[in-house]
Amino acid sequence: MADFAAARARMVDVQIARRGIRDTAVLAAMRTVPRERFVPEALVEFAYEDTPLPIGAEQTISQPFIVAAMIEAAEIGRQDRVLEVGAGSGYAAAVLGQVANQVFAVERHAQLGTAAAAQIEALGYDNVQIVSGDGSGGLPAKAPFAAILVSAGGPDIPHLLKQQLAVGGHLIVPVGERGDQKLCKVTRITQDRFEEQNLGAVTFVPLIGAHGWPEDGSRSA
Ligand code: SAM
Repeated sequence: MADFAAARARMVDVQIARRGIRDTAVLAAMRTVPRERFVPEALVEFAYEDTPLPIGAEQTISQPFIVAAMIEAAEIGRQDRVLEVGAGSGYAAAVLGQVANQVFAVERHAQLGTAAAAQIEALGYDNVQIVSGDGSGGLPAKAPFAAILVSAGGPDIPHLLKQQLAVGGHLIVPVGERGDQKLCKVTRITQDRFEEQNLGAVTFVPLIGAHGWPEDGSRSA
C-alpha cells in the first residue's frame, strides 16, 4: 500500500513550497487534500508527481503547483465565497474549500461533475458544491465572489466573470490560444475600475461555452 501521506508531504515541500508558494493556508490545504482520490484508479501511483493527469472526457486534473499558484494569487480569506469554473476532478475545488468559507465549482462535462461531487461528498467537504453546466458566464445566482478561478483558457477575459467579483476581489483566468496562453489576474478596485496583471505563460485545456471558445473547435474569438 503506497504511503500517500508521505508522498503528499514531499510534494508540498519539494514542488510547491520550494518553488515559491508562501501562503501558509494554501500549503496547509495542499498537505491535507488527498489528490490520489481525484485521479483515476489506474494512475494513483502518479498522484503526487508534478504533472497534470488525464481524468476522462479528454480533460485533466491540473498540475499541483499551478493549483497552489492560482489559489495563492487569488488572495482568499477564510470567510470568502469563491467560484471555480472548470471543476474537472474536483481536486482544486477541494483545496479551495480548505482556505475559503464556501466554494462553488462549475463543470460542463456531466460525467466529470458527477464523479467530482461524489468524491467531495465521500471526503465530507460540505462547504464545496459542484454545479453542472457552462460556467463561462459565471454563476450569477451566487455572486458576488471574493475570488473566481478559471481552470480552462478562454479567448479573452469573460466580462460576466468580472461583473461577479466583489469589490476588492480577484479573478484568475488563463487567456489565449492553446500553446500561447497567459495567466491573468484581474482585481476589482472599485465598482467600475479593474486592474489587470499578467502572471506568466500557462497551458490549460480550452474554456468552451457561451463566453469561451465555441464547441466545434474553431478558435476565433
Ligand atoms: N481544476 C480541475 C481539477 O482540479 O481537476 C482541473 C480542470 S481541467 C484543467 C479544466 C476543466 O474545465 C475541464 O474539466 C473542462 O471540462 C472544464 N470546462 C471547460 N469549459 C468549461 C465551461 N465553460 N464551464 C465549466 N467547465 C468547463
